[in-house]
Amino acid sequence: MDLTSVKTIKDISSRYGFVFKKGLGQNFLTDNRVLEETVDAAEIENGVLEIGPGFGVLTYALAKTGKKVVAVEVDDRLLPVLEETLSEFDNVEVVLQDILKTDIKELLKDKFGDNKISIAANLPYYITTPIITRLLELRLPVNNMVFMVQKEVAERIAAKKSRDVGAISLYCQYFAEPEIICTVPAGSFYPPPKVDSAVLRLKMLDEPRVKVEDEELLFKVIRASFGQRRKTLANGLSGGLGLDKQTITEIIKKCGFSETVRGETLSLEDFAKISDEISIVKRGAK
Ligand code: SAM
Repeated sequence: MDLTSVKTIKDISSRYGFVFKKGLGQNFLTDNRVLEETVDAAEIENGVLEIGPGFGVLTYALAKTGKKVVAVEVDDRLLPVLEETLSEFDNVEVVLQDILKTDIKELLKDKFGDNKISIAANLPYYITTPIITRLLELRLPVNNMVFMVQKEVAERIAAKKSRDVGAISLYCQYFAEPEIICTVPAGSFYPPPKVDSAVLRLKMLDEPRVKVEDEELLFKVIRASFGQRRKTLANGLSGGLGLDKQTITEIIKKCGFSETVRGETLSLEDFAKISDEISIVKRGAK
């Protein structure tokens, strides 16, 4: 059965009386090249976690590698479909759960033991940022995460040029090496979504890219700077961090930046420097 064929998708939908739910981001991939590139980019060594199998098109391609595949799906109407489409494999397990409510660390331990795995997903757009943030924060035993996301989100995460960078870019760059594997036009899905997509790989680093005194503070500083994009860094930071503007301005200057610098022009290394200076001041104030 060719799950990338629109005819097959329509046939399955009609046989199971399946109506696509927009709210769950149910746009199914119909492009073989993208499937191959996704599987290759995942560099699966021991096993793979998939989020949102849908009718199982990516699950099928992952299962063909012979590695163990665990696929978490929230929509119970898909279970009988997946039973049919993946019936030839005994290395696939479908778990009926909302990934946003899943104890992912526990799930990986239970299904893969201490093995380092890959994660692959054609993500529903509505969970992209929360799920990527969460997967990174959990420090899972993972080598590669490969996600199909909205093209603009992939470009932002992989951005090197400062004006395109956002908090999510620096967050990802702290934990991983982001890379766009390929772009995918809206017409490569059924039903087609409104926007184009891209396959993004996050190759996990062994150690975070920069070393800081207080990781939570670094993330707070990044969030505060980008939350107030049009303001100067000093104005952006003086609100959320419990320090007055004069102290923040002195810290910014001490780190070698102009007092009117904007957060969006700084690199992760620059933010690490500022965060460590704030840390010192905060410790002194206690
Ligand atoms: N993997 C399939 C493909 O590539 O064609 C389907 C991808 S479709 C964009 C997203 C899938 O994620 C759907 O099957 C949807 O039901 C599922 N999904 C949506 N929200 C979810 C959640 N919170 N937890 C787990 N799966 C979810």
